[in-house]
Amino acid sequence: MNETTQTASLENYTLAQWREVAERAKPRIETRLFIDGAYCDAAGGGRFQNINPATGEVLAEMARGTEADIDRAVAAALKAYRSGAWSRMAPRDRMEVLYRYADLIEANAESLAVLETLDMGKPIADVIAEDIPAVVTTIRFMAECIDKVEGAVTNTDAGSVHMVLREPLGVVGAITPWNYPMLMAAWKVAPALAAGNTVVLKPAEQSPSNAARLAELFLEAGGPPGVFNVVNGMGEDAGRALALHNDVAKISFTGSTEVGKLIMQYAGQSNMKRVGLECGGKSPQIMMGDLPDLDAAVEAAIDGIFANMGEVCSAGSRLLVERPIYDAFVERFVAEGSNAYRPGDPLDPATNMGPLVDRGAQQRVLSMIEAGRNEGARLHFGGDAPESLADGAFVNPTLFSDVRNDMSIARQEIFGPVASVIPFEGADEGLAIANDTMYGLAAGIWTRDINTAFKLIKNIEAGVVWVNAYEDGDMTQPFGGYKQSGHARDKCMDSFKSYTQTKSAWIRLE
Ligand code: NAD
Repeated sequence: MNETTQTASLENYTLAQWREVAERAKPRIETRLFIDGAYCDAAGGGRFQNINPATGEVLAEMARGTEADIDRAVAAALKAYRSGAWSRMAPRDRMEVLYRYADLIEANAESLAVLETLDMGKPIADVIAEDIPAVVTTIRFMAECIDKVEGAVTNTDAGSVHMVLREPLGVVGAITPWNYPMLMAAWKVAPALAAGNTVVLKPAEQSPSNAARLAELFLEAGGPPGVFNVVNGMGEDAGRALALHNDVAKISFTGSTEVGKLIMQYAGQSNMKRVGLECGGKSPQIMMGDLPDLDAAVEAAIDGIFANMGEVCSAGSRLLVERPIYDAFVERFVAEGSNAYRPGDPLDPATNMGPLVDRGAQQRVLSMIEAGRNEGARLHFGGDAPESLADGAFVNPTLFSDVRNDMSIARQEIFGPVASVIPFEGADEGLAIANDTMYGLAAGIWTRDINTAFKLIKNIEAGVVWVNAYEDGDMTQPFGGYKQSGHARDKCMDSFKSYTQTKSAWIRLE
């Protein structure tokens, strides 16, 4: 089945069909680790529960990998790397494997999608329309880079030739979060594999269902055993062991800023491995009084904070609105935003807001909302959990206005569907508030004045800036942060290069 047919047919599934698919998929969840091309149980025999956050149901008892399993996986990855079966495979052959891999993910979209939804509560419609196509595109883009990224022959004196070779790093450890489980894995694993490395992936413990299957599909596509390994387990155990491992050449991490700092320490305590960090955010959207279209800006603001339950690193969680349009903006946001996203069964294709990832996240978000109330922000809607969905970790979309940038809801990453509107006067004050944060992942600028737009673009401390848009982009866009949002860049060709190292070869001629 080609991409269009596959996606179109899944887009037409009804709730009853998805429920049927879910019942078929649950008993088949692969609970084991995937090491050296084969499924295996954790060496210590430990297990952890994989819970559906929409219902509280235990989906599976997953093998709980520990340091011993990380050791086995890294040894398999190092052996596979040194064998050259992948790292020295002809570029076009490596490309063909990755293209087949992308095709296989599309062919298996139904079961992968339903497990993603059961795992972390993401609406099935979003998985089908966004996550799966983005995973496939990421793999294809990185495959295309394989014979496009080049070394160099530099200008030297006539008696020498100097070549700069670009080589893979070796074993790459990838540690991923749960908010886009397959996509965050793809953003790391695809460039690492395309560049010729071998990989050990440690997925988030809240969303372990698909990871081993992703590695199995790579094998099915013709990838050699040991090249892509998966060890599920806890962060402070399996994750820490991976980041401390002396045979790992790079750790590519996406997750919280707090854990990102630990990863840097682990690298320093072990072998000075490279570290790529994609961490948290508290991204501002600056709404200037002259913005071109208030309706479009409000719509983007609503999607920018409520999509994926607000569990998005680049969520536009601070809405900075210039005084002349402040009241109109808030009024419009209340009118449109209070009904735009409705919590519901994420298996229902009509649902656009599922539960948060677990009860802990629900409690954390509700306590942040409480803090906002206590600090004097004005609550317009939401602020609680929907009573009719008490079995799951749901939180209603929430809007605060009259927020000051020193309030905790404006400073801490809430990672939930909570928008904070902050007033300002003039571009200079908007910019000062936008930059008054330890984070620097993304920013939105809304204005029709090109001078204001450029001034803000040049002075905003953020790795990704959108003008009169939010969350737009494609694979050419370097995605990553300034400041404590981390320093890695995903998606683009630079991402591919970050999984390579240069070797200078200087040849003296006779
Ligand atoms: P987290 O930091 O709690 O966990 C991320 C991963 O790190 C998980 O696999 C976890 O098991 C592992 N981990 C935890 N402790 C560890 C330790 N001591 N050593 C090694 N590994 C450890 O983050 P999360 O709650 O899963 O994800 C949410 C965070 O991810 C948010 O802050 C969000 O902004 C961030 N995020 C950033 C991006 C980006 O591109 N910048 C994308 C998605 C998510």
